[in-house]
Amino acid sequence: MRAYFRNIYKAITTIMIGMRITLRYNLAKTVTVQYPDVPPTLQPRFRGFHYYEIEKCIACDMCAKACPIDCIYIEKTGPRKIDKASNVANGGAITRYAIDYAKCMFCGLCTEPCPTECIHMGDNHDLSAYDRGSLLIEFTELARDGLQTPPPLWLQRKRLPAWAEDTRRRWEERAAPVREKMLTALVETEIPKAKKPATKKTDGDETKDA
Ligand code: SF4
Ligand code: SF4
Repeated sequence: MRAYFRNIYKAITTIMIGMRITLRYNLAKTVTVQYPDVPPTLQPRFRGFHYYEIEKCIACDMCAKACPIDCIYIEKTGPRKIDKASNVANGGAITRYAIDYAKCMFCGLCTEPCPTECIHMGDNHDLSAYDRGSLLIEFTELARDGLQTPPPLWLQRKRLPAWAEDTRRRWEERAAPVREKMLTALVETEIPKAKKPATKKTDGDETKDA
């Protein structure tokens, strides 16, 4: 009998706790975000459409293998290697680096194993499209235009709100210094041979020379 009443008590108190939270939100002031006139509030760890630094990519397939839904497609003409001095990869050309955003679930797993840290979850939150095919983004084609992230449709408009102009300018400024290097990822380059370390002469060698 005691357990019976305890259960009733618990049911009533838990409902009251839930209703208190509901009531608090019910009476709170309604906030309407005036997007696109004002920017959306993105949290620091927001995962948007990727930002890809093709000039550092060695096309190793690690990101594609980590992707749980196989929506990254990579093709190259030969092995690529990062040059430690310039931090730019060379070797075979990257002929395709594409992500199908109709499938991508923005889990970020592809960014974890990248040995050159060239694929990142970006801050582009809007990739609306008129058809599903447009969601297959060819990053190699973007690189030809000097872009590192897929441009949203609103970027094609002539008049943009100030925050969107700022976003566009920030993306352009980030890509500008590496535009030439981005294009080098699309053509084959010779991997420089590693220099052999100079061998030290031993005492025995000196005797022979004498
Ligand atoms: S993005 Fe990184 S992990 Fe993916 S192929 Fe390029 S170097 Fe490899
Ligand atoms: S974010 Fe996740 S689903 Fe999207 S490409 Fe990367 S690993 Fe695949």
